[in-house]
Amino acid sequence: MTNKALKEAVLELKKTLHVSIVAHFYQKDEVFELADFTGDSLQLAQWAARDTNPYLLFCGVGFMGQSVKILAPEKRVFMPKIACCAMARMIDVGYFDQNIAVLEKAGIAKEALMPVTYINSSAEVKAAVGKMGGYVCTSSNAKKIITKALESGKKILFVPDRCLGQNIAKEMGLHSCVVGDGSDPLRADILCYNGFCSVHQFFDVEDIVFYRHKYPGILIATHPECKVEVCDASDFVGSTSQIIEYVKALPLEQKVAIGTEYNMIKRLRSENTYVLSSTKPECPTMNETTLKDVYDTLLSIQEGRYENEISISHETQYWANEALKRMFEL
Ligand code: SF4
Repeated sequence: MTNKALKEAVLELKKTLHVSIVAHFYQKDEVFELADFTGDSLQLAQWAARDTNPYLLFCGVGFMGQSVKILAPEKRVFMPKIACCAMARMIDVGYFDQNIAVLEKAGIAKEALMPVTYINSSAEVKAAVGKMGGYVCTSSNAKKIITKALESGKKILFVPDRCLGQNIAKEMGLHSCVVGDGSDPLRADILCYNGFCSVHQFFDVEDIVFYRHKYPGILIATHPECKVEVCDASDFVGSTSQIIEYVKALPLEQKVAIGTEYNMIKRLRSENTYVLSSTKPECPTMNETTLKDVYDTLLSIQEGRYENEISISHETQYWANEALKRMFEL
């Protein structure tokens, strides 16, 4: 089937089967164009949980489809590809517990820790955080959530993205350390798990120096999953939605170089917008989902095979939802 025929078949199937499609900003154009709603992980989860269609096709990475299922357990959620975010895959409940054990050995009791997990984590990790009274956060509300979590008087155990944890700590004038890297956790307010995004690690201060030299007056916008020194050297640091707003508000003649995933950057503006990397910063897992996968999944719903449906145990859903609810309450 050609792409045009596939697209038509997808639109027809989604209409007859009452399926909503949502796509993350980092999805390929061929998938992105078909979506009823596009956004960042939090916007998508909120929209999808409120949507009234019985079936949802989530084009993104695994933890995102899980977030909808946590928020709306009655909804049938499918993913054309159950692709796992590299950062989310860096932590599971075993590693989470291991970090706590390392900190206990260093003299910080489990009861003295308040865990906060970035939304880029599995339902099981969110549940472990929820059981300890902790929170989920996103890159746009991490500062607010950490401020609230600190009211407990405990140290923050921030998982899994060390860069986001370090960037927020710096912005708030707090001390951070990476658990297990040899630094003293007793001196830190935010204890970061040693995970990272393999895509946002692409960007270096040298890239910023290069662009500033080549185009005097250029602005640099980066995502807080980038390294601390990269964010420090940027003019603007924000989540994907915040970067989009920032760039769209710029006059067209204003040059801007952006440090985030390539699919999103290329859709932003055709002129005066540059990718802050000499290599294409494409997220391999986000790029796994194709138009054909979307078609195949719809077909499996039509034929009653229900492939790639997200399911979460009741206990995990309950505790993960507790951690998410604490975020929404703020
Ligand atoms: Fe995960 Fe990074 Fe890909 Fe986002 S860009 S889905 S954080 S690996």
